[in-house]
This record gives sequence, structure tokens and C-alpha cells, in this order.
Amino acid sequence: MTTSPIWHPFTQHGLGEPIPLVTRGEGAALFTADGRRVIDAISSWWVTTHGHAHPRIAAAIAEQAGRLDQIIFAGWTHEPAETLAAGLRAIMPPELTRVFFSDSGSTSVEVALKMALGYWLHRGEPRHRILVLEHGYHGDTIGAMSVGARGVFNRAYAPLLFDVETLPFPAAGQEQATLDALEHACRDGAAALIVEPLILGAGGMLIYSAATLAEMRRVCARHDVLFIADEVMAAWGRTGTLLACEQAGIVPDILCLSKGLTGGAIPLAVTMATEPVFAAHYGPDRSTMFFHSSSYTANPIACAAANANLAIWREEPVLQRVADLARRQADRLAALASLSSIAGARQLGTITAMEIGGNAGYLSDRAPRLLACFRERDVLLRPLGNTVYVMPPYCITDADLAAVYQAIAEACAI
Ligand SMILES: *Cc1c(COP(=O)(O)O)cnc(C)c1O
Repeated sequence: MTTSPIWHPFTQHGLGEPIPLVTRGEGAALFTADGRRVIDAISSWWVTTHGHAHPRIAAAIAEQAGRLDQIIFAGWTHEPAETLAAGLRAIMPPELTRVFFSDSGSTSVEVALKMALGYWLHRGEPRHRILVLEHGYHGDTIGAMSVGARGVFNRAYAPLLFDVETLPFPAAGQEQATLDALEHACRDGAAALIVEPLILGAGGMLIYSAATLAEMRRVCARHDVLFIADEVMAAWGRTGTLLACEQAGIVPDILCLSKGLTGGAIPLAVTMATEPVFAAHYGPDRSTMFFHSSSYTANPIACAAANANLAIWREEPVLQRVADLARRQADRLAALASLSSIAGARQLGTITAMEIGGNAGYLSDRAPRLLACFRERDVLLRPLGNTVYVMPPYCITDADLAAVYQAIAEACAI
């Protein structure tokens, strides 16, 4: 039993595993109180894009904190939010005309689902059925869990989760089954399909083709079913492009962004929507306004951090760094993939993934051994079961990336 009162997320305190105390971060490195330098190979759970404690983002946060820290956002506005909304409009697909703020990936998904149902109700054709992809993950709040995969993570809450229609994952060679199931489900009149474009993160870094994503979007459009792209993990260069949807040449009706929105420095999310979705809620009738808010909606400090992130995207060669990291990742993965205990080596943009020692599921007893092995080598990797993935900040050095893959190679021997 530790002396700290903190109850950590996704942590079984009964196992007594060490919980390192981190005092500082810089670039792709974390520094612990006991003097270790740890390589952050998962971008602190997929959020840190340009590196920890980025000077431009840190300065923007400090400046804004001394000017305007917080203001109610219902009926009020402020400059950082206006600048951010305009900045997003400038770089996101032009069809996505409206920007709704919230605080996390999960809430951006809740907002997306509520927008979809509001859209149908206010058009006078109530629909509420949501279509989802097998193995999907959209967050840990009740609505977000409802549209995600069911399993040990949410077994206790299953009675509270609403029903959805699950389409089979479009694994290579089995795409048609997904498309047929989607076509069938759409004909029955669904409110929306929600997907993680191109890569299912928490589901095990499962990659599917851009052609399939494009076809799913076309089927939805043909049947007037709203298409929600949850790019909470995929956006901001992770998959090689600003948005994963770009690679399929598609634009969703509703787009969820969070994690890398502030460069990973501070919580913030947006749900972007097309004009028809906004228009369905618009008018003189107060009962059709969008009933969603949280205390910190569009917090000015968080918006300032996001504006600094957008400035970095505008003024620095971020996509070049992304392409460079993708190439370095490909080289490292190729060198490792020959090891006999590695299977399913795959890559999308800056993300690589593989299974070590066969397929075993999230609670496989290999997972804690892998974790301990990486921890001993001062590498922050957090396998999903026995799926090990590498998703570093774009600024990771060659030496650090080499050390990450060295740790994985050594982990294969345990
Ligand atoms: C992480 C994630 C979420 C949830 O975001 P939080 O900020 O953790 O609530 C939702 N969707 C996807 C695809 C994610 O990867």
C-alpha cells in the first residue's frame, strides 16, 4: 500500500507496481525525482506532438494566464477562442464551418453524438441509432463507452451503456463485409456512424485502408447518415497528414479533435460541424439551442496553448518532421521485424505497432512483464496487451529512437 492518496487511472494499485515521480519534461525526455531520464515513446498517451514543455506553447500559457484566465462561454467570448476558431477554419476542411469547444476527447465525442441526435430531432425526423466499428475506442464517459468496444474495461457499467450497431472491423481482405453491413444498417435509418479514421488506437493500433474509409463515407452520404470522424488520436500529423481523413479525400459531417490540439500541453477539445448540423439547431426557438456546456468550455489559457500549436504548424516545417519521423520509424521497424517473436509489424505515419509473442489480449500476463522490462530500461512504452506500439513526439532524436527499439528487442527475450 502506498502512502499517496492518489487513485491512478488504469492502474491496479494492488499489484504494487512502482509509480515514478516525474519532475520535468523536455522534448521527448522525462526526468524523474530519482534522477532518471526516461524516453517518452508514447507521447504521454498520444498527446505530445512537438515535445514536452515546448517553449512557444509554455510562453503562450504563461502570457494568457496573466491576462484572462477564465470566462463563462455561454453568451460571452474572448480573443483566444475567436483566434483559435478562425485558425481551425483556415486549416480544416472548409465544409466544417462551426467550432464547439469542450475539454477532452471523450467530451468531444459526447458533443458529436448529441449534435447528431439534435440534428435529426430538430429536422423533425428523430433518429437515434449509432453505428460503430468493432474494436473502436472513443473515450471513457458513458456515451463514449457506449460507442466503443465492450470488454473488461466497461463490463461493470454495461447496464448503463446504450445499444449501438457494430460493424465488423475492415481488416485487409474483409473490407466488403464491413461495407455490406454498413449499407444494410444505413438502409434501416441510422443517426450517425462514428469511426476512428484509418487507425483504431486503443483497440490495438489496427490499421485499415483509406479506400475503405472513403467508401464508408460514401455509403453514409448516400443514405443521409451523419459521418462522425473521431480524430482525437489521429489528427495533428500522427498518421502522416494533418488529418487522417485527408488520406481518403473525405470530409466528415462532424469532426472530433483533442489530444494534439494544444500540442499536448493542456486539456482542450473541439467538435467541428458542417453548416447543416449547426443550422438544425439555429432559429428563434430557445428549445433547439445546443444544450451542452462545461465550466471550462473554451478556457482562454487552453485556447492560447492551441493558438501557439497552430502557429507552430503555420511557421515551422511540422509535416516535414512528421515525414522524417515516419521514415526513421520505418527503418527501425524493418530492422526489428525479422525477430521471430515479433508478428504483425505495421505502420501508419509516425505510429508503429507489433505483437510480441503471439496474440494474448489486454490482460495477458506478458503485458506487466513488458511494462517492467521497458521501465527498467528507462523507456516509456505502455503495451496494449502484448501489442507494443511506438508513437513518439516528432522531435525524438535518432539516439532515443534507437534506444526505444533496443528495449523492444530486449523485451522479446523475456
Ligand atoms: C484518447 C481518445 C479519446 C478520448 O480522449 P480523452 O481526452 O482521453 O477523453 C477519444 N477517441 C479517441 C480515438 C482517442 O484516442
